[in-house]
Amino acid sequence: MVTHPALCYIEWVPTDIADNLKNIRRRITEAAVRVGRDADEIKLVAVSKMHPAETLRAAIAAGVTAFGENKVQEGEGKIVEIGREAAEWHLIGHLQSNKARRAVQVFDVIHSVDSIELAARLERICINEDRDELSVFVQVDLAGEETKSGLPESDLPELVAYLRSCKCLRFNGLMLLPPFFDDPEATRPYFNRLRALRDEIIPGGELSMGMSHDFEVAIEEGATIVRVGTAIFGMR
Ligand SMILES: *Cc1c(COP(=O)(O)O)cnc(C)c1O
Repeated sequence: MVTHPALCYIEWVPTDIADNLKNIRRRITEAAVRVGRDADEIKLVAVSKMHPAETLRAAIAAGVTAFGENKVQEGEGKIVEIGREAAEWHLIGHLQSNKARRAVQVFDVIHSVDSIELAARLERICINEDRDELSVFVQVDLAGEETKSGLPESDLPELVAYLRSCKCLRFNGLMLLPPFFDDPEATRPYFNRLRALRDEIIPGGELSMGMSHDFEVAIEEGATIVRVGTAIFGMR
């Protein structure tokens, strides 16, 4: 059910998506310029999890071209409502194998590939569904966080070799969801490490790293995709 803002004006605090976007784009440019990069090489993925389709529509109107969702089912609902072609759809959350087919059917990019089993399943499904190409990132766990998804660094070569043998999966680069630190500077060594791995494994490949509170540091360390939610849409 959608409650009209006028009916709950006391709690309703408008988040000006267009203003927030303008601000973030400026900060992206400033961070890029600080390290001599071109801001055009950095893609902003607007993380829209827990926000309704109407909010995404407002974001599209304000110039957003790519959305990130962390759950297949939630994302699918919005993609169906808004339209597959209306934006680029990125799955950024952990993908369970029983949701892999739905994910292949609706998402353009999957950021969270972290096992050969999952990769093999996605490849099989793509062939099955006649999908020529699916862009994927390998999510790396640099902190040894048992609770999070992501592949330990030591297992990367094997998965990457497998991805390179795939017909449909296109290995785009590496993705990182680092531990949370209040001070974004504390995340810098993780961003830096991911970049070094990228240079080693897939020179010139993409780096999906940086969120609302640390995307500027991520850009200084080479991010080519930043995934920003709260700073665009407000608190979830
Ligand atoms: C939620 C989420 C983000 C965005 O986080 P914000 O702090 O709201 O910008 C980015 N990446 C992943 C994987 C997420 O789950």
